[in-house]
Parts: sequence; C-alpha cells; structure tokens
Amino acid sequence: MASIFTPAAFSRGARCAGRSAKRLRVGAYTARYASSKHPSGFVPPAKEDLEELRGSVQEFTRREIPESVAAHTDQSNEFPSSMWEKLGSAGFLGITADEELGGLGMGYQAHCVVMEELSRASGSIALSYAAHSQLCVNQLMLNGSDSQKSRFLPPLISGEKVGALAMSEHSAGSDVVSMKMTAKETEGGWLLNGSKMWITNGPDASTIIVYAKTKPDAASKGITAFIVDVAGVSKKGFGVARKLDKLGMRGSNTGELIFEDVFVPHENVLGDVNRGVRVLMEGLDLERLVLSAGPLGLMQASLDLALPYTKTRTQFSQPLSQFQLVQGKLADMYVAYRSASALTYSIARDVDESGAASSSSSETLIPTVKSHDCAGAILLAAESATTTALNCIQLLGGMGYMNEIAAGRLLRDAKLYEIGAGTSEVRRIVIGRALAKD
Ligand SMILES: Cc1cc2nc3c(=O)[nH]c(=O)nc-3n(C[C@H](O)[C@H](O)[C@H](O)COP(=O)(O)OP(=O)(O)OC[C@H]3O[C@@H](n4cnc5c(N)ncnc54)[C@H](O)[C@@H]3O)c2cc1C
Repeated sequence: MASIFTPAAFSRGARCAGRSAKRLRVGAYTARYASSKHPSGFVPPAKEDLEELRGSVQEFTRREIPESVAAHTDQSNEFPSSMWEKLGSAGFLGITADEELGGLGMGYQAHCVVMEELSRASGSIALSYAAHSQLCVNQLMLNGSDSQKSRFLPPLISGEKVGALAMSEHSAGSDVVSMKMTAKETEGGWLLNGSKMWITNGPDASTIIVYAKTKPDAASKGITAFIVDVAGVSKKGFGVARKLDKLGMRGSNTGELIFEDVFVPHENVLGDVNRGVRVLMEGLDLERLVLSAGPLGLMQASLDLALPYTKTRTQFSQPLSQFQLVQGKLADMYVAYRSASALTYSIARDVDESGAASSSSSETLIPTVKSHDCAGAILLAAESATTTALNCIQLLGGMGYMNEIAAGRLLRDAKLYEIGAGTSEVRRIVIGRALAKD
C-alpha cells in the first residue's frame, strides 16, 4: 500500500484525506483536543502514523541528505538552499501547522520524529529546519491572528520563504529579558533599532520573529514580539552584519542582524503590545522540546557509525565488538539514546494529548506544557549526545579522529545543544526552581 507520507503523496489534499481517514479509524468516539497549542480539532497521531512518518523522513534523507551532502554542508559552511523547497514539498515545514494553511496538523511528537531523523542525517540542516519550522512557523501558528497566519504561513510552509526567530543579543543571552533592541511607535507602526546575535537562518530569512523593548523601563513587561518581513515592507534599514563562523552546525547559517529604523506595520505585531515575554517564554518551552530531538538524531548517527565499525574491524584476531570493554561503551551509547528518547517522546505525547475533551463533557482540560519537563528533555538529550559522540570517536580509534569520518562532526554539532535554546545551566535553573516551588 502506498504510504500517505511518501513525498509524492504530500499534496495538501492527500494529506487531509490521510488524516481524515485516521480520525475515522479511531471508532465511534474520536478524541478531539482543544489545547491552544494545536490547530482546532487536532487529533494526536497514532503510533503507526508516527512510524509511517519516520519511514518517510528516512526515505527523504536517504535521497536528499546522503553523507556526501552532510559532509559538504559542514565543510563549505553553506546551507544547501534548494533544501528548503524539498523540505516544503515533502510536507515537513508545517508539521504543527493547520491543514488549511498547508500544514499537516500532526503535533509535537511528529515534529520530534522529523527533527530526529533529519538530525541523524545532518545536524546542521536539521538545526536550520527547526529554526524555520518550530521557532518561526510554530510561533506564528500559536500566536498569529488569522490574517497574519494566512499572509505569512503558506510561503513558509511551502519552503518558498525562510523563517527565523531573533531574541538573543550580544549582551543578552541567558538573561534575554535584558535585551536592548527598542521599538518606538510611529505613524502606522513601529521603528525597530538595535542588533541581534547568533540568529539561525538570519542570513537567509525573509520572515523573522523579533523581540524588542516597547517600554524599556518595564523589564519583562515591556517586550513585544514582531513579525519582521525583511524581504518586503521592513526591508529598509535591515542588514546582516556578518555570517558567523562556528565550531559545529556548520552550514546552518547563523548571523548577526542589524536594525536601523526598520519599519514594522501595526498589523505585524505578534500577540499583544508589551506582552511579548509570554510569547517568548511559551515558545521557548516548545522550542526546547522539539530541539531535544536534534541530539536524539545525533546519538542515532553515532550508533550508526560505531556499530558496523566495531563489528567489522578486527584487532587481536577478533572483531572489536567482541571485547567487553567495547560492548560496555556500545551499551552506554544505546542506553543514553533510549533513555533520552523515552523522555522526549513522553513529554511530546503529554503535550499532544493535553486539552482533551472528555467523552462525557464538553469541558476541556488545561494544556500540559511544563517548562521544567521541556527543559529536562533537552538537558538530558544534549549532554547525552555529547558523551555519545565522544564514545563514538573513541570506538573508532584513529579513524574516529579523522575528518573524513563524520564522528568529529557529530561531536561538534552535539555541543551546540548544550548552549542554544538556553544553556544546560539555565535548564537546571528552570527545573530546580520549579521543584523548589511550594
Ligand atoms: C549556533 C547557535 C545558534 C543560535 N540560534 C539562535 C536563534 O536562532 N535565535 C536566538 O535568539 N538565539 C540563538 N542563539 C543564542 C543562544 O540562545 C544563546 O547563545 C544562549 O542562550 C546563551 O547565551 P550567551 O551565549 O549569551 O551565553 P551567556 O548567557 O553569556 O552564558 C555564558 C555561560 O554562563 C552561564 N550562565 C549564565 N547565566 C548563569 C546563571 N544565572 N547561573 C549559572 N550560569 C550562568 C551559561 O550557562 C554559560 O555557561 C544561538 C546560539 C548559537 C551558538
């Protein structure tokens, strides 16, 4: 039977037909979910839907992101720009977005599946993917008005346009609320001034969600989120100061962005004026959850390298995999992957299944997105991925240290996840504070 997730079948009609069929399959009572984190009428995917999706992403990466593409992306430090439209045609850029807007409306477990399998093929292509599909598309989906969604989402979901999110600044990283960028009201909108640092997809993006101070003396109560159309109405005064040269995630283009009197019309304010910190913090929780699938994919990639290598290389007349010390390392790698995977997907399932309307009442439950769980998922996955990549290098011996093998790239890529989307220290602070609360 043809898979509904094969790229060829990813026309909107086919996707909708596939999802409707699955809804009917649930039987007399179909659980519909009223969480504000999902499109209306959202139905969480069944296990087999997720497996089918995983197979489809694997098929995509085998065809579009073989190791030669991943290695070239790393060496050239250039994102393969044709990848956006390929990801769009495959349906992967709007996994959490409304079907009416071209998305798949499949939720966060599905988004994690796509992120994991893309990361398994190329950490940097996947990081750019997440900055687009989660940080930009999903933020618009969650906070945009109907008009904003219909104007901005379709070209982002098709891959015609590239998206990014800009909150960090040189002097405001972990303490992001201390950002200095300002937005002053003017006729018809706002003028943005300042700079943003380390912005994934910044050099390529045409739609950027930007946070700025609209009331600089009001700390967290004076931040507003804006949709900045840097290829259109907000082009004047916007510039990419430089593309940054990085240790890892090379080819995921990261930039420093400059805003000099950049005009943003009133209709492009995302959410309420001075209430941007809510948009930012809620976005960060789901960002951490979906990004935690990145290190999962990198751990899979480490196992993909270490398992065949240790089975085929012989020393002392035996395959390496027959030595117990080697088996111990393989066991550690496997358990690190499995435990981090279990945590990520259980939290993603909680989010997908939150807000369920009970069969006997129309009352809806409160969405279950716990900041400390999302922080925990990426904390565990990120640190495990670095350790697993180090184990992979060790098991490959001298070859593990050679740039012709991907092991070193996996280590360099994995390390980013202990820094980006809030550092490991900040994640521990988020978890510790929640646990210490009465
Ligand atoms: C490749 C890459 C891509 C990125 N993409 C984006 C993006 O798309 N959009 C965006 O807005 N940002 C992005 N960032 C920025 C990223 O979110 C920040 O780098 C991160 O939040 C850390 O901020 P910082 O670099 O200023 O470090 P700092 O805040 O200066 O921290 C330095 C060290 O001090 C520690 N530290 C800080 N405060 C405390 C504390 N209270 N207690 C204990 N330790 C503390 C930190 O944990 C860290 O170890 C990206 C960064 C990178 C490297």
